[in-house]
Amino acid sequence: MKIAFWGVRGSIPTPLSPLQIQNRIAAVVQRITEKDVVSADAREKFLASLPEWLFGTVGGNTSCVEIENAQGDCIILDAGSGLRELSLNLKNRPVHSSGGMTYHIFFSHFHWDHLQGLPFFGQAFDPRNRIVFYSTEPDLRERLNYQMRPPFFPVPMEGPLGFNASLEFVVLSPESAPLRIGDATVSWKRVNHPGGCTAYRFEEGGRSFIYATDTELSRDDFLDTEENGRFYADADVLVMDSQYTMDEALEKTGWGHSSFSLTVDFALNWRVKKLVLFHHEPTYTDKKIFSLRQSAEWYREYAGSNPVEIVIAREGMELVL
Ligand SMILES: [Zn+2]
Ligand SMILES: [Zn+2]
Repeated sequence: MKIAFWGVRGSIPTPLSPLQIQNRIAAVVQRITEKDVVSADAREKFLASLPEWLFGTVGGNTSCVEIENAQGDCIILDAGSGLRELSLNLKNRPVHSSGGMTYHIFFSHFHWDHLQGLPFFGQAFDPRNRIVFYSTEPDLRERLNYQMRPPFFPVPMEGPLGFNASLEFVVLSPESAPLRIGDATVSWKRVNHPGGCTAYRFEEGGRSFIYATDTELSRDDFLDTEENGRFYADADVLVMDSQYTMDEALEKTGWGHSSFSLTVDFALNWRVKKLVLFHHEPTYTDKKIFSLRQSAEWYREYAGSNPVEIVIAREGMELVL
């Protein structure tokens, strides 16, 4: 499986402001010394020495993660604003630009930050393509139609002006299991979030990947039940809602998100190999978000001996499983 991240922010798109850009340029200029500009090599070295929050960003788009399985099937997790970036990228991939592709789009839930990119998924307007939508919500089709109609959007989803690709709507239930896409098997589990949310586990060739966004972890998630173990245990990669610091999580109990420290506890509890902190809080700067990795690593040393690797999700990041 190849995993690519197209949107990693929570709640609302968070573009960098003009002032933030100016402050970054000013901070970089302050660091430059004469020896940093004596040659092209020296310039490269200088840029490589800058902290990632100064020379990079986690990105401002909301949730969208792409999985490519061994057969090359395109699986998309959530349709946040990052879906538009993915759509533009797909146009430049020969196998996609010639049409005739199937896109499997799984929804965790239907809050705006997981849905707002859907009207801009250009591949859905191509009659040669096929789109299969998946959700645990029985009114999946109605929900998708509802968000894409006047006065909220000028073009209705279904109808002559709307998506011209062939559309299928799969409501996931216990009877749908086990679901397969190529050689990848998909399982799912409801998680704790206002209005409900669904986490997904993908397995292929003995490797496993879990996408668990918008989850307020509770004691029940740590219990060694058969259902929890089957879904969470021993994952190679867990992408998990880690929106808050510990203090903020205490203030925002019931908002449906977790602190990075609780997410680390959870990954240790279930012997996860790599934890990806995801659904970043929109009020946090890049500097603060990147610093959460260090905090999470310190917390991991304090909390347990399991060497779970901790990664900050950022746009453009790719993982191969
Ligand atoms: Zn969200
Ligand atoms: Zn949500």
